[in-house]
Amino acid sequence: MGYIEENLKEVEANIQKACDRAGRDRKEVTLICVSKTKPVSDIRQAMECGQTYFGENKVQEIKDKTTEITESLHWHMIGHLQTNKVKYLPGRVDMIHSVDNISLAGEIEKQAAKAGLVMDVLCEVNVAGEDTKFGLTPDATADFIKEIASLSHIRVRGLMTIAPYTDDPESNRGYFRTLKSLMTDINAMNIPNISMDTLSMGMTGDYEVAIEEGATFVRVGTGIFGERDYSKKN
Ligand SMILES: *Cc1c(COP(=O)(O)O)cnc(C)c1O
Repeated sequence: MGYIEENLKEVEANIQKACDRAGRDRKEVTLICVSKTKPVSDIRQAMECGQTYFGENKVQEIKDKTTEITESLHWHMIGHLQTNKVKYLPGRVDMIHSVDNISLAGEIEKQAAKAGLVMDVLCEVNVAGEDTKFGLTPDATADFIKEIASLSHIRVRGLMTIAPYTDDPESNRGYFRTLKSLMTDINAMNIPNISMDTLSMGMTGDYEVAIEEGATFVRVGTGIFGERDYSKKN
């Protein structure tokens, strides 16, 4: 058994245990295998283990990998997105997790309309207020969603956050709880077209805590594919 298969077994067991602790059905949580910087051969190994959700953070890598891998998979754009690159995504990805400004939302609307589809999106929220991270402040999120709610080629499915990098996953529990209550509060505003059901939160270091706090997507890279090497171009 290769290390990717072994890691996937371990991650799966951890997801199940977190669901059990929280009294949640395993089916409520979808594992996104974050394959950024990793070769197509790694993705194929994960596919052989039954994985169909893959997350990438660079448009060029999504273009390359979706060209090489023609099997039908669920590709998710999870990284910061520049407006001028949006045009490559409709038809290639199922969901964009990183919508945090009006001009980006407007461009997704335009490109999705052009492709004749409705794009599922999540609004990225910088819950911990880290300077280094993109995303809306929690306070600005409801108004932002009101502003984009009428765009007919965008479906706002929920919220996403990237919690601080930490050795102590418990320290992120409060951020995950905040994201969930923000979604509940915004749903309660009865904004036309807005009924969110998706929380993308939790990475290798903290996905179990995120599941306990209500994550529906966890984004796990290192825990499946091993450390990333940014020094060499793949
Ligand atoms: C890289 C990345 C991940 C995965 O991080 P790991 O710590 O390797 O699991 C998750 N979400 C986003 C947005 C990322 O860019």
